[in-house]
Amino acid sequence: MNAAIISIGDELVLGQTVDTNSAWLSERLAAIGVKVGMHITVEDELGAVAEVIEAMCERSCVVLVSGGLGPTEDDLTRAGLARAMGVDVVQSEEMLASVEGYFRDKIGREMPARNRVQAMKPVGTEMIKNDWGTAPGIRAELDGATVFVMPGVPSEMRGMYEHCVEPAIQEIGKKDEVEGMGTLRRVILTKKVNTFGLGESDVGERLGKLMRRDRNPVVGTTVSEGICGVRIRAEYEDADGAEKAIAETVGLIEEKMGRFVFGCDDERLQDAVVQALQRTNRTVATAESCTGGLIGKMITDVSGSSDVYKGGYVTYSNEMKMTCLGVPKEVLEAYGAVSREVAGAMAKGVIEQTGSDYGVGVTGIAGPGGGSDEKPVGTVWIGIASRAKNGEIRCYTALLNQWGDRARVRDRAAKCCLQALRF
Ligand code: ATP
Ligand code: MG
Repeated sequence: MNAAIISIGDELVLGQTVDTNSAWLSERLAAIGVKVGMHITVEDELGAVAEVIEAMCERSCVVLVSGGLGPTEDDLTRAGLARAMGVDVVQSEEMLASVEGYFRDKIGREMPARNRVQAMKPVGTEMIKNDWGTAPGIRAELDGATVFVMPGVPSEMRGMYEHCVEPAIQEIGKKDEVEGMGTLRRVILTKKVNTFGLGESDVGERLGKLMRRDRNPVVGTTVSEGICGVRIRAEYEDADGAEKAIAETVGLIEEKMGRFVFGCDDERLQDAVVQALQRTNRTVATAESCTGGLIGKMITDVSGSSDVYKGGYVTYSNEMKMTCLGVPKEVLEAYGAVSREVAGAMAKGVIEQTGSDYGVGVTGIAGPGGGSDEKPVGTVWIGIASRAKNGEIRCYTALLNQWGDRARVRDRAAKCCLQALRF
């Protein structure tokens, strides 16, 4: 069974309100095995609303609409649905009683005349009860599809979906199965494998045939804040089959992506770092310049990080690099604060100061000012020092050439340090 979701409202297309209804509905529908093929957002305009409802009914078994059921001039969903169906809107006694009842029982006043319009519906449609607000919903049949119209207010939409719409969709699914319409309910499961360190095209290259669109589970990638997530969606007739297929695909992705994989679903890079340190019973401390404490913040975002994080220094000035971390004055003068030598000295210095097993040093030019031909904005040196069993401190350093604004440079520098700690 496939579905389409339509969100109606000027505030949504103007970008003033983010459409959370569609995302919420998609998740709920996937959980009952209904595949959503389209989300459409439409302005409060009669022709557009009618056109989109009609088009979605042509390609879907179920069409879920939210918004535009209010009592004001800009609430056009009732009229839009009627136009798509080629019928008139009429007053429904049942709906009028519902709206009046809501005002009387829940708000404690008479229904304002303006709200009468919320009791209008296209001829031949049914009312859906609304116990969460004034506007009743509407159920309609159009072009072989079933349309469910719900209020836009997220809490009202959710209440109506859970109590009235989802059970109705499940009934439709059962009926279609009995009639041999071939719309057997399917189980849709999703999972995300998180990677850091490779761009999306490199990830795509590595995944190769796994990304073919005719594969089940289907595999896709999404990048957000430098993290490339590999999304998996399995559609099977039974949950066991879907789960097995997902696990198998996760294995294949891990094989191809190797150590770039740091976790699944909501797991963050810092979660993976803290877990790895906990497993090996090791500690870390940070010496940050251009990231200004961001790495320490990220690590301490993880509950339980006190087991592994000793603490850190934010040494922004040369003076503090010298007094807090023991970076030699000659090194700073000879190479400059943004250099391999200083990043290394910071990483070693923080181990010496705190007695940690690992030390992170990071120094760079986050911009927008401060760059030069030799060291442009985005130049970041990182140092990862570690204490060997014999007490000797070794250090690995790397140059990152980042691009982008200040926030991006700092974020990627912090994430590269976390990734380096995992390696
Ligand atoms: P009604 O809820 O009476 O059917 P409506 O949805 O058009 O009418 P609005 O006043 O336009 O009522 O919206 C009510 C609130 O719900 C607003 O704050 C609006 O931004 C929010 N809202 C509407 N649609 C969505 C959506 N798809 N996602 C998130 N919020 C939404
Ligand atoms: Mg609206």
